[in-house]
Amino acid sequence: ILITFEGPEGAGKTTILQHILPKLQANGVDIVATREPGGIRIAEAIREIILAPENTAIDGKTELLLFAAARRQHLNEKVLPALSENKLVIIDRFIDSSVAYQGYARGIAVSDVEMINQFATDGLVPDLTLYFDVDTDIGLSRVMSGNREINRLDLEAREMHEKVRAGYQKIAEQNPDRLIKIDASQPIDAVIADTLSVISRRFPE
Ligand code: C5P
Ligand code: MG
Repeated sequence: ILITFEGPEGAGKTTILQHILPKLQANGVDIVATREPGGIRIAEAIREIILAPENTAIDGKTELLLFAAARRQHLNEKVLPALSENKLVIIDRFIDSSVAYQGYARGIAVSDVEMINQFATDGLVPDLTLYFDVDTDIGLSRVMSGNREINRLDLEAREMHEKVRAGYQKIAEQNPDRLIKIDASQPIDAVIADTLSVISRRFPE
């Protein structure tokens, strides 16, 4: 079974995953938890290229292709082998991040992003995607600790966050069976409880 965690920054995806992992394992579930871009050496190296502050000049399509390259290698080396051993694999970000960020937010045609996703994954689609939806101000305040001064960067970040969020809303509307929305504006304990209940309702052992 493949589950993916999606949502804008500050939604708490990584934190929630860390918290639910031991709980699922305590129930005897054999889990591999991993992330994109990254999860294996080659893909983590690609992640460093994409995220390095000195590389902000990276063209949107170049970025899309780097994410896709990291995605494919990560699938081949880690995700597909674990799925074939019947493990539960949970990935922090996957195909919908490319559609939301490079597509809806950065303006590459969504159909092109979907084509590249298809090419990189050979059409692998998650069994379930938890979409952690967070109010923009709450999400950004979780990311930018402290500094409340509104400068240009914050406004850009806000605009970007809104576009990403709107993109995820569209993806969720178009894939109502796969994407389940979780209210990630709630306190973390409530988000963890919702996450566990969605997973156990969908996959009762
Ligand atoms: O998942 P995480 O928050 O660690 O992602 C790292 C960074 O990469 C974030 O700033 C996220 O917004 C960005 N990202 C992106 N496009 C993607 C996936 C992540 O811009 N497809
Ligand atoms: Mg994270």
